[in-house]
Amino acid sequence: TCILAIESSCDETAVAIVENTNQVLANVVATQIDVHKEFGGVIPEVASRIHVENISMVIAEALKKANKQVSDMDAIAVTKGPGLIGSLHVGVQAAKTLAWSFHKPLVPVHHICGHIYANALVKNLKYPMLALVVSGGHTELVYLKAEYEFEILGTTQDDAVGEAYDKVARVMGLPYPGGPQIDRLAKEGKPVYKLPHPKTAGEMDYSFSGLKSGVLQFIDRCKRKGETYVAADLAASFQETALDELLDKLKIAIDQKHPAQVVLAGGVAANSRLRERLTKLMEEAYPDIDYIIPPLSCCTDNAAMIGVAGTIAYQHGVRGDFDLTADCSMEM
Ligand code: ATP
Ligand code: FE
Ligand code: MG
Repeated sequence: TCILAIESSCDETAVAIVENTNQVLANVVATQIDVHKEFGGVIPEVASRIHVENISMVIAEALKKANKQVSDMDAIAVTKGPGLIGSLHVGVQAAKTLAWSFHKPLVPVHHICGHIYANALVKNLKYPMLALVVSGGHTELVYLKAEYEFEILGTTQDDAVGEAYDKVARVMGLPYPGGPQIDRLAKEGKPVYKLPHPKTAGEMDYSFSGLKSGVLQFIDRCKRKGETYVAADLAASFQETALDELLDKLKIAIDQKHPAQVVLAGGVAANSRLRERLTKLMEEAYPDIDYIIPPLSCCTDNAAMIGVAGTIAYQHGVRGDFDLTADCSMEM
């Protein structure tokens, strides 16, 4: 099967051509980061307008790179949700137009299923599988008993971990997106400041707003007292506390579900310390369980991951009609 996949859920206009589930013939991403940087975050209205400007060019470039035509495709896959509604609409409308003009099946894909299936670009997946999803909008433990069967074991009760990284970076005066900045700064510091550890109702749920407030209060306290703090140490303290939380709950899920494979997914999977700590955890505590930490290029938003998830969805009979619409709070 050869699939053209479109992803436009946030601030990346992305189109990929994927053959035989995981062979990427083209993977084009037009990012808007430089535009949104000026505002310190994504402005939804601006994002959708730029998607409109870019989408046709990105589709044309992906086809050219893959040396394919739309008529060669078996289906058109598109991110239906979740994400920014205006952004999603641009991708969905483009996909419907292609599907209608070329008489191709349309396959709606959940953005987070895409992040999880990005791991198929690295090596063969094994089930039951456990995915730790860490991104700008999600923090979830997802259990896949079999292919394309998703069960959410735990989720965040408030902020996503990437959102916490971005907000903490912002109050520390670091540029958007803050995650990579904290990652870099924390390398030069030590986790010496005590910050509140999250409390949650469910044993596999997450919470990051208390930790984020803890950092804000810490900075306020220093300002009030006229004291200075070491930014690198604060970044390291925030990061270690957040990662303790992510990995503690992952351990609970592994012990309960005994998966054959553990995979990491989402933009925060690019975090160097998370990659280091997860590797150590898997090697030392679970030497018999296979695991995948995807390369950085597969972690942040792209359409290749939607192409992989779209191919699998297509094989499972998932189809969209011509009344397909974007769903900003789509469920898995
Ligand atoms: P979602 O996937 O939930 O819809 P999103 O698509 O906006 O949200 P992604 O693009 O998957 O999120 O990930 C972006 C997030 O990843 C941002 O919050 C960014 O700060 C964070 N991030 C990227 N690199 C790093 C890093 N090295 N360390 C920590 N966070 C990072
Ligand atoms: Fe994403
Ligand atoms: Mg993004």
